[in-house]
Amino acid sequence: MAYEAIWTSTQKINDVEKQKLEKDGLDIIRTIIDDYSHQGYDAITPDDMNRFKWAGVYEQKPKDGHFMMRVRINSGVMTSDQARGLAGIAHAYGRDLVDVTTRQAIQFHWLTVENLPDIFHRLEQVGLYSFEACGDCPRTIVGNPLAGIDKDELIDTTDIVNEVNDFFLMNRDFSNLPRKYKMSISGNIYNTAHAEINDLAFTPAVKVLDGQEVIGFHVWVGGGLSAKPYLAQKLDLFVRPEDVLKVAIGVTTIFRDHGYREKRHRARLKFLIADWGPEKFQEKLIEQIGDMPTSGEDKTVGWNAAYFDGVHPQKQDGLSYVGLNIPVGRLDAQELEELARIADEFGDGTIRTTMSQNIIIPGVPSDKIDAMLKASIFERLTPNPNRFMSRTVSCTGNEFCNLAIVETKERANRVAQYLDEHIELEEPVRIHFVGCPNSCGQKHIADIGLQGALIKTEDGMVDAFDIAVGGTLGEGAKFNDRLKGKVKGDDIAAVLAQLIQYYKEQRQQDESFHSF
Ligand code: SF4
Repeated sequence: MAYEAIWTSTQKINDVEKQKLEKDGLDIIRTIIDDYSHQGYDAITPDDMNRFKWAGVYEQKPKDGHFMMRVRINSGVMTSDQARGLAGIAHAYGRDLVDVTTRQAIQFHWLTVENLPDIFHRLEQVGLYSFEACGDCPRTIVGNPLAGIDKDELIDTTDIVNEVNDFFLMNRDFSNLPRKYKMSISGNIYNTAHAEINDLAFTPAVKVLDGQEVIGFHVWVGGGLSAKPYLAQKLDLFVRPEDVLKVAIGVTTIFRDHGYREKRHRARLKFLIADWGPEKFQEKLIEQIGDMPTSGEDKTVGWNAAYFDGVHPQKQDGLSYVGLNIPVGRLDAQELEELARIADEFGDGTIRTTMSQNIIIPGVPSDKIDAMLKASIFERLTPNPNRFMSRTVSCTGNEFCNLAIVETKERANRVAQYLDEHIELEEPVRIHFVGCPNSCGQKHIADIGLQGALIKTEDGMVDAFDIAVGGTLGEGAKFNDRLKGKVKGDDIAAVLAQLIQYYKEQRQQDESFHSF
């Protein structure tokens, strides 16, 4: 049942909701292919431009006819053919630029509306989709990039993620949700998919049922970042692997039918959960899907912040995976093509993206690692990155994003290089840059989170940043705390160097940055 069937004219809804009732977001895909790709950029109406998100496409900054596109990669796992397909699109239409996002997706820039039908077609040929990678709908499902090869996973979640993805993708019963909706499903005990910052998350758990220990999941709801961030809350439920889809449908149905549609900034599931509390939400869920067992034993033991750099043994004897650093998540089409070639020659023919904007090459026989690492691509995309470059994340920023207040990616790159040249530190310090409060670069969970702002100086308005410190997920999960004042963009590197130097000198033994 789609939302239109539930809506009554007495309900107060915002203007975007009215647009969605007039024409479903998914209808834009046909309109792009049949109409706008022939008529061109100037023919696109403002309402339809807003609907482009359902095709996974955003207008790029400045608004001169170029677009950015996000492609869904389930759990970040893609085949080498898919990687070549993506590289081909970037080369043909996207000025060779390929960004890895913090939700394991691939993002292109510089596309035009005339290119979109061929891009949709090229993606479909390799089994990939940009559809619903953006918009008020279930987006890319993030998960364990090591699914199936992971020594630290309780259960291989590949099939579960694909099942949930296939159910929701292009499903018109769920293409009109109150706001964006993000799911995470991981069987890894180190929380590789940042469960607490998703609308709905499944984390590994066990429970004895009918005298047998069953591996399954715990369920978390109502997490999300942006200007008012919330950590997801755990429900008192244990979910068998075969029931994950049922629970996902139940939670998404409640969000569709009871989520807020009056104010855009209070529409995410997190606001409904904050108002109802997890108990009432769970009662509604049980009404929806029937009885479920209560919680079992939680198997998450920590948080690795989705970092995998270096060479590590897989659960399969004799095979290793190699975690590479992709500086601030950006590579070019030729590099992606070369990684696909290497995955075929040395690995298992897959490439995996991580929520830290990096890439993993899995399935490499341990005796081939040295030969593989001789390839020149690993000089830049190295498995042994410098300390700060290895832990720096950045959103798109005002190079392409219309919502951005400041430039982020190039600056993040420069700051990480500066810190690597000036500070020696054994412990990783995670630094995240975002260009506006939307927090696509997940600044709230960073050791040091930097959020763009403008400040007035004698020379006029200049780029600046709020600094927040001490974010972490896992046990003791908390968002970082904002420090007083703002720092000019040009001074960020020097100020962070001082801050980290202070930590280095003042910390107690083994004290991590977030607990300092
Ligand atoms: Fe754009 Fe803001 Fe998201 Fe950065 S955080 S990509 S500036 S919307």
